[in-house]
Order: sequence, then C-alpha cells, then structure tokens
Amino acid sequence: MPPSTATALRPLAILGGTFDPVHLGHLRVAWEAAEQLGAEVRLLPANQPPHRPPPVASAAQRVAMLRVALAGQDRLTLDLREIERAGPSWTVDTLIALRREIGPLRPLVLLIGADAYEGLTSWHRWRTLFELAHIGVLTRPGPSTPLPPELEFETAPRRAHEPAVLHGAPGGRVLAIAVTALAISATRVRALLATGHLPRFLVADALLADPELLAPYRSGPIG
Ligand code: ATP
Repeated sequence: MPPSTATALRPLAILGGTFDPVHLGHLRVAWEAAEQLGAEVRLLPANQPPHRPPPVASAAQRVAMLRVALAGQDRLTLDLREIERAGPSWTVDTLIALRREIGPLRPLVLLIGADAYEGLTSWHRWRTLFELAHIGVLTRPGPSTPLPPELEFETAPRRAHEPAVLHGAPGGRVLAIAVTALAISATRVRALLATGHLPRFLVADALLADPELLAPYRSGPIG
C-alpha cells in the first residue's frame, strides 16, 4: 500500500554518530527531537568516522547494542546505510542517498549538536548540506557562543523559530532544538567499563542485562 500523503511528508530526521556505545544522552536527545519535530528519527551509526580515531567496538557490536537499546519503541529507528557502505561516511553522501529515496518533497532534518554545528565549515561540502536538508541544532540551556562569521552568514537567512516551518519545506532551514542536557558521553561510559565500573543509569538497562554487549570495552571483571 502506498504511504499516505501525511506519512510521506512527515519529517525524517537523522542523528549520526559512532555510538561507541549508544548511551542515554543519545537516546533522550533523539526522543525529544522526534517529539518536538513530529518526526521519525533514525540513528545512523558511522562505519569509519572521517574526523576521529576508529571506534573501539566493531560495527556489528555497535549495531547489536543499538538494536537492544531501541527495542520496545518505534519512534526511533536504526539506519544501517553508513555501516554498510565502504569507506568514510560523509554526511553529504548520506543526505544525497536519503533524498533520492524519500523524494524531493519530504522534509529531511539533519540533527547535530550545537558544538558540532559551530565547526560545520570543516565538514565535507558543508554548504551543500543546506540544499539537501534542514539542520536541527540540538541546543542545551545557557548562553550560546557566536558562530564563525562564514557560518553565521549562511545561517542567518535560514533560521527558523518553530518546528512547523520545517514541515513546510524539504530543507534549507536551521532550527535550534532545545534538549535536556544529560552530561553523558560514550568516552565516559568506555572509561567506566575499562576500570571495572558499571555504567548503570548512563546506558539503557537492556545493555547491562547481556554481559556480551559491553564486553568490547571491558578490561576485566565488573565490580
Ligand atoms: P564520544 O564520547 O566517543 O566522543 P559521544 O558520546 O559524543 O561519543 P557520538 O556517537 O559521537 O557520542 O555522538 C553522536 C551524536 O550524539 C553527536 O551529534 C553528539 O553531539 C550527540 N550527543 C552525544 N552525547 C550527547 C548528550 N549527552 N546529549 C546530547 N547529545 C549528545
């Protein structure tokens, strides 16, 4: 059955990352973005991140953790295209592929943290990103730092002040999405596991239930 127009035009948002491992900071922020935008949010694990050292866990292990963490709800889904593609995962290529798939009309939203957005001009073909999608900048409470002039120049005419604006166009706008600040990082979760501590309440409980899932980060028995 073909999707209804309403479904076809429901925004599709993506949150990329290494998810090494996925933690509650990722999940909460994706959930809040889904609610605020009325969007389907897909988590996109990166295969070989262009800007950082390789992940500790293999692609298959990171996907297994994501599957377990996402079980039991259908608002957040998993998109494996970057994992399945050889070579570095340029966001621009991912957006081109998604745009081809969803057609020219459906709003597509690239979710990125405010810190990452500040560095957008270093991304591969960064100006093209605005042609392919909206950008949802995940913002924590507190004062924001001014953007570099080149980025501010691109951003200023695109700023939207409410999610409804994103429903009215396939891409091209920039919306700040205020999210609950959870000071959790995968680096911290890995450090806890490496020193024999349990990252309880930092990752989904289901990840703790299966000792194999977090094994890539452990150096010894968990205390
Ligand atoms: P690492 O500590 O290994 O650098 P990370 O915890 O930052 O990892 P990533 O997989 O790099 O996790 O993050 C994917 C996306 O999720 C990024 O856009 C990042 O800004 C965002 N993110 C990560 N942690 C949080 C958090 N606690 N709150 C909000 N967003 C987060």
